[in-house]
Amino acid sequence: MISCLQEDKVRRPEELSTTEPQRQALGSTLQTQGTTDLEKHLEILVLENDRLKQELNGCQLQLQQLRISLTGCTGCEHSKENTQLREQTADLQLELGEKTQLLAKLQQHLKDVLQDKTEREERLNKQIRDCHLALAKQPTPSVKYITKKIEVESSRTKQDLEEAQARNHYLQEQIAIQRRVLAEQEQQLQDSWRTSAQLQAQVMMYEAELERTRGEMLEAFQAMEDEKNQAIEEVFLQARTEMKTVHENLNGVRMNLLSIQPALKTLTSDYNCLKNHVRDFPCLLQDAVNQTKREIYQAVEEAQKTNQDLLRKYKREMQLRKKCHNELVRLRGNIRVLCRVRPVNRDDGTGLDTRNIISFDNDDDAVLYVSHRGKTSMFELDKVFQPHAVQADIFQEVQALITSCIDGYNVCIFAYGQTGSGKTYTMEGSPEDPGINQRALRLLFGEVAERSTDWDLTITVSMAEIYNETLRDLLGSDPQKIEDLTMRNLLAKDPNEKLEIKLSPDGSGQLYVPGLIQIRVQSVDDINKVFELGRVNRATDFTNVNERSSRSHALLIVSVTGINLTSGVRTTGKLNLVDLAGSERVGKSGAEGPRLREAQNINKSLLALGDVICALRSKQPYIPFRNSKLTYLLQDSLSGDSKTLMMVQVSPMEKNVNETVCSLKFAQRVRSVELGAVVRRAENQHYSSRQDYELESPSAAAQQGRFNISHSGGKTTAGKRRLMASGEVNHRQSPAALPAL
Ligand code: ADP
Ligand code: MG
Repeated sequence: MISCLQEDKVRRPEELSTTEPQRQALGSTLQTQGTTDLEKHLEILVLENDRLKQELNGCQLQLQQLRISLTGCTGCEHSKENTQLREQTADLQLELGEKTQLLAKLQQHLKDVLQDKTEREERLNKQIRDCHLALAKQPTPSVKYITKKIEVESSRTKQDLEEAQARNHYLQEQIAIQRRVLAEQEQQLQDSWRTSAQLQAQVMMYEAELERTRGEMLEAFQAMEDEKNQAIEEVFLQARTEMKTVHENLNGVRMNLLSIQPALKTLTSDYNCLKNHVRDFPCLLQDAVNQTKREIYQAVEEAQKTNQDLLRKYKREMQLRKKCHNELVRLRGNIRVLCRVRPVNRDDGTGLDTRNIISFDNDDDAVLYVSHRGKTSMFELDKVFQPHAVQADIFQEVQALITSCIDGYNVCIFAYGQTGSGKTYTMEGSPEDPGINQRALRLLFGEVAERSTDWDLTITVSMAEIYNETLRDLLGSDPQKIEDLTMRNLLAKDPNEKLEIKLSPDGSGQLYVPGLIQIRVQSVDDINKVFELGRVNRATDFTNVNERSSRSHALLIVSVTGINLTSGVRTTGKLNLVDLAGSERVGKSGAEGPRLREAQNINKSLLALGDVICALRSKQPYIPFRNSKLTYLLQDSLSGDSKTLMMVQVSPMEKNVNETVCSLKFAQRVRSVELGAVVRRAENQHYSSRQDYELESPSAAAQQGRFNISHSGGKTTAGKRRLMASGEVNHRQSPAALPAL
């Protein structure tokens, strides 16, 4: 359209003379507008935009390809970087999209501006054309002249002139208006230009931004490409090394496979074989288990039967054993009297009165002879131990009694005799050669251990003494004197406390001593400690008969309680080992005052013991247990099926002859008390010998009425003893030769 206007200007130069100012104004207006440049610039921008789009598409394509190539590399540094780059690219794309939208908006705005401008140009052109037409309709440039002439010449012409002037005025006004419009247009064009310049600057800026972004992207792509290549190369190298190793291994495996194949075949056949076995195994196992169970049940039943059978047999055997033992003891007599003659030792001196007056029968170990003043008296007991008999021999004889206390029997072993006759030696012995007490406890320990599978046995000991008819605990001590704390608690007691013998509150009729200390012993050490304590506490004194004389009865009471683990049967046996006080006569010992009282008490209690034993042996209805503390205390252990052993100790020396004879008479009296007819027959003998006894002990004679005594005199053989037991002995012994107590 502009070119058309220019052509018009060229084609009609004659019109320039009349409308030159207007044309010039119009031309300058058109020139200042620069519309063609804007359009061109717009076209360039559009082209550039298209190019950028294409480039963007190319980049996206490239990015797509890179993504595809990098999908294999996941999780590594590159993929992370790739993700970051992708994010950056996405951001850039977003930014680009925004900028593209902005560009599109600008383009739209530019189009609108251009449209507006074109419309206005068209309107202006139309106005110009109208002006031209109007100008063309006007008279030629000679109008002014003609008008002036007409003004002069005619009024009509004047009027026409006025009209033409008005018309001219109007046109000038129109031109002024058009000029203003043109100025406005020019202003608008300048604004548009400025806007266009701004837009262009923005487009350039965007282009620069795009360029920078593209550069960054390219750099990133390049870096990624490099990393990818490097990673690929590393992976490739690694893979190649691994492949090499794998190949080597594969070769090895191939070789192995070749050698393994035959073994595999064997194994497969074995495996199949085993599989068959395993399939059959549960059935076989079940069968075997059932069979074994049956066998076990059967075995258990058989074992139970055998067990019961054995138990039955065991019980029967036990009863039989007990019966045999009882029978043996019965045959021997529940009360046995033994005699031990002590040897003469260096302490006895070498005077005439130390001559030996005792002899023995080598064919009969139950008799001994006392020769004095030309007379020989024979004494018969259950067994006589000669001076050379050792402690073990004595113990051999008594051990059956001791074991019977484990079976629940009560046992009493007494050592009787004058002071210095060896009672303490027999009962206690020396540390090197212990006596019955220690050997008995050792034997009991041995038996307890032996029976431990069937029995739970407990052994306790007490030690007491009877002095002047007073019972005293030998294990109780002044607490101050006991160092060991536990022992102090156990043994703390007033050493002079008098103990009482009482009836058991359980109504069993048993006697017991409240407060009497009982100590459980389990070893020889224990018993040694207990004995030592008892020894220290025992009351001793000096007399002119012997340097050391025991003036009290010493009792070691051993209790054995047991529970049969099979039958649950409980047993309690008591073993009383009594070292009696010296039996010497008061007159000879020369005692006076308190010593005399001691001696009388000792005599009284020994006499009471003899009475009780005699009463028991003759099965008398009344047994005088209460006549002394000793018999009262030992009541349980003397009565019933209890067993008693009296060890009569004698000295073989002439100087002790009277005491020896007295002791032997006592022993013989006790021993010869027989049951039934014998007892009754003996009663006559008893009264015939009464006189002798009264000479020695008037107090004892008062009790004699209760004694049942039988005597045997002269040389007696075992056969004779048997006869005597059956009551067929002819008592020919004179009262003087064998005095009764
Ligand atoms: P008792 O207790 O009767 O007063 P002992 O037992 O104290 O008498 O004995 C007095 C002395 O005789 C002691 O020295 C003792 O060692 C000794 N004795 C006693 N019997 C024997 C014996 N069978 N063998 C050796 N020595 C004995
Ligand atoms: Mg003694």
